[in-house]
Amino acid sequence: MPTSFYTHDLFLKHLEGYEHVERPERLRSILQRMKSGAMVEKLTFVEAEPAEQSVIELVHDPEYVQQILTLKTERAITLDWGDTVATAATPQAALYAVGAGVQAVDAVLNGRFANAFCAVRPPGHHAETARAMGFCLFNNIAIAAAYLIEHRSLKRVAIVDWDVHHGNGTEDTFIESEQVLYVSLHQYPHYPGTGDASVTGSGNGTGYTLNIPLSVGTGDDDLLGTFDEKVIPALDRFAPEFILISAGFDGHVDDPLSGTCFSTEAFGEMTQRITECAIRHCSGRVVSFLEGGYNVTAFAESVERHLEVLTYQGKS
Ligand SMILES: [Zn+2]
Repeated sequence: MPTSFYTHDLFLKHLEGYEHVERPERLRSILQRMKSGAMVEKLTFVEAEPAEQSVIELVHDPEYVQQILTLKTERAITLDWGDTVATAATPQAALYAVGAGVQAVDAVLNGRFANAFCAVRPPGHHAETARAMGFCLFNNIAIAAAYLIEHRSLKRVAIVDWDVHHGNGTEDTFIESEQVLYVSLHQYPHYPGTGDASVTGSGNGTGYTLNIPLSVGTGDDDLLGTFDEKVIPALDRFAPEFILISAGFDGHVDDPLSGTCFSTEAFGEMTQRITECAIRHCSGRVVSFLEGGYNVTAFAESVERHLEVLTYQGKS
């Protein structure tokens, strides 16, 4: 079974012509690399469709959803304290970014694809129930997880978030849920300030949030050691029916937004460990969501490494 690659031209329109670190060139660099190299043969490219509003409301406040979707702006406007910006194409891009994730988890669960990558913008893991934050408007990965539970009757969905920033929005969404295991590896202290190891969930969700703070300078050996000692055992105990990845590549040594020192290869190694775990528990079902990554060259190389491993696992 092949690996699918979900994207849409709208994702290149979000923030087009506006100077911002989360810029269309990021996605363009991935698309160029995927379509010109060896990967083009290995991936099935799928055009994303818009999400249903009711599905977005599984995670977000209806009023907030309405506010984003009806946003009309000729100029770039700021949605939060200054880091999340919207342009004319943003509401549609955000709607299709959620749609890509929902479509991808559906297709993988139905056995159409072995696994999938959602090459989307805007990213999602900082978005809160009723607030845009950290370049994120709708929480794409949290919505896909909620969809699997509410609409596809899954009982255990794991989210591994290796973006270098803590996924505060995703953590918040499932903090009281025993049906979603949220595991985050992130530089700490760092933006957005959350992600302390002492936060492990609350109520029924106690023990289902695992925060792994990493210090500035953390390299591959420490990262992968932690992965083997903490992340994989936690996933094995949870026995997920589906694994979602918040795939940010901003922990790369060459990335301007972090102080961690991961190599390109580290992203392949983490992917390998997760896909093997998914094969043990859930027929290899993995869907990965693009989050951060801001050095365009290192970013595209790291995404390619991630996809090489996904496509290889998809074959077996
Ligand atoms: Zn990030």
